[in-house]
Amino acid sequence: MRIPPSVSEKDFSDALKQFEEAVGKEWVFTSDEDVALYRDAYSPLWGEPDELVASAAVAPDGVEQVQKVVKIANAYKIPIYPVSTGKNLGYGGSAPVLSGSVVLDLKRMNRILEVNEKNAYALVEPGVSYFDLYRYIQEKGLKLWVDVPDPGWGSPVGNSLDRGGGYLMAQYRNHFDSHCGMEIVLPTGEILRTGMGALPGAKTWQEYKTGFGPWVDGIFSQSNFGVVTKMGFWLMPEPDAFLSGTVYVPKHDDLIPLVEILNHLENTRVTNGMPDLGSPLLMIPMVSEIAVWNEGGGPLPPSAELAGLLAKSPGGYSPELEAYALKNGISYWSCKVCFYGPEKANAANWEFAKEKFSAIPGAKFVQNEVYKFPLTPEQQEKVHKPQFGIPSLAMFSIGARSPVNPQPLNGHMWFSPIIPRTGEAIFEANRVFSEAAKEFGLPNLAFSLPSTYWERAFIFIFAFPVTHDVETNKKNRAAFKQLVQRAAEQGWGEYRTAPVFQDTIMNTYAYNNHVLLRFHETLKDAIDPNGIISAGRYGIWPKHLRKAQA
Ligand SMILES: Cc1cc2nc3c(=O)[nH]c(=O)nc-3n(C[C@H](O)[C@H](O)[C@H](O)COP(=O)(O)OP(=O)(O)OC[C@H]3O[C@@H](n4cnc5c(N)ncnc54)[C@H](O)[C@@H]3O)c2cc1C
Repeated sequence: MRIPPSVSEKDFSDALKQFEEAVGKEWVFTSDEDVALYRDAYSPLWGEPDELVASAAVAPDGVEQVQKVVKIANAYKIPIYPVSTGKNLGYGGSAPVLSGSVVLDLKRMNRILEVNEKNAYALVEPGVSYFDLYRYIQEKGLKLWVDVPDPGWGSPVGNSLDRGGGYLMAQYRNHFDSHCGMEIVLPTGEILRTGMGALPGAKTWQEYKTGFGPWVDGIFSQSNFGVVTKMGFWLMPEPDAFLSGTVYVPKHDDLIPLVEILNHLENTRVTNGMPDLGSPLLMIPMVSEIAVWNEGGGPLPPSAELAGLLAKSPGGYSPELEAYALKNGISYWSCKVCFYGPEKANAANWEFAKEKFSAIPGAKFVQNEVYKFPLTPEQQEKVHKPQFGIPSLAMFSIGARSPVNPQPLNGHMWFSPIIPRTGEAIFEANRVFSEAAKEFGLPNLAFSLPSTYWERAFIFIFAFPVTHDVETNKKNRAAFKQLVQRAAEQGWGEYRTAPVFQDTIMNTYAYNNHVLLRFHETLKDAIDPNGIISAGRYGIWPKHLRKAQA
């Protein structure tokens, strides 16, 4: 059995006994077989001596047990690593940042404490998955939708603490933004409630976010200052109808006004669903089409002439390619805009959006199906489910064995920089990343389009392959770090990352001699002086381990 770093065998064995007393013997896992389940299946360090692995796992079933575990960990200085459903694939899975930590597995705490239909919110424990919450709402016949990320087996608490995103109306898509009220077990074992939750008997804990005084919720996301044991979330009342329409524009440079008009429509809330960018010419699917394309339902392969032109236009552009597209009526870009609301209002908003996009010469429009709710089973099978608040695992077709991908990889790590929400920035990011790929000896990066989860900035998501070949993984990790650096030089920072890159990325947020990291460290030292909680998460190390990382 692995022992946590700087802990004696005797102390560890005593602590494990006390964990067993606190949560029950069957909920403390120490066998190699059990502990291996907490390995990160997508680990870019797979099979290497430095792979991040746990020493044991403890699974409490309530907040009192969490308090006991935290107090024991503090007494013996055992590093613990809380996870909710532990499905953070691409960003670390359920493996700790500091090898040898004990995973605090909160999956058994899976109570849905309240769902309020009239005021559209839920209060849940960390082990509640998106599937659980969806089923609960369906079984009770409540007219509420949950904003789900693509993999429905994760949890509102775990996903939002890592600042994940989904697909519904703008105000729900940023999952940390749409939480309201938290309960946290601090490293001392004390329970803190944030927002209105600090008021004993509060009647609006899940309805008013900020309470009184400094609003501290943010410091518990992408951090290691406590164990979150409850969180409130605002849910989306089921809308009357959904309409989406796709705008097609003919020329390469049309992407610039396309994004400008889109931004205006979103920022004035004319469109309220997640927009979706694609390129029929460059054969880039919109997000809502990815699963269908991966199943072999994409467009026909390009003609020999187009394939030749595409091969000669590595940055996604050449005058010849554009001329071919214009001659053959193939649009350069597509943008789907989505509307949730009353059927008539959606139709009027779509008309208004068309008027605005018509400023781009040659813009064409296709209105897609209008949906009323609940969807029929046939409709459910056709749509991108998360866009309708329905959890699913279909996105795992990315990189999975399929007709278009007969030799799948072992996983991927997401390189996900945030760039400005402009067409110019899309071109610039592609230029910078494709030059960098050449320089760092990576396969040519095909032109790609960013995702539109967040309203005010784009996020570029590149899936970097993870294999079980040590040399390939080493090379990819080195290239990933170089890309992070190159992005930072352009002023583009990552929004989230796997543990193996967290120090590198935190280091790029270096304004004023790393004052932000030093501020985090000051908080860490005050809140968790023994550094027992999630040591190293997002580059925040406890004092006694800081030097080793420098
Ligand atoms: C194909 C694919 C598609 C994906 N699509 C999306 C997507 O659309 N949107 C998206 O956001 N993500 C996406 N992901 C990433 C990831 O799978 C999800 O974000 C997933 O929801 C995270 O897992 P989880 O909810 O189980 O969180 P967890 O793994 O439980 O938590 C994540 C981290 O937060 C911290 N944490 C969790 N719970 C607590 C707690 N109670 N107290 C203190 N700290 C805690 C821990 O450090 C933990 O490692 C995708 C991944 C893949 C492979």
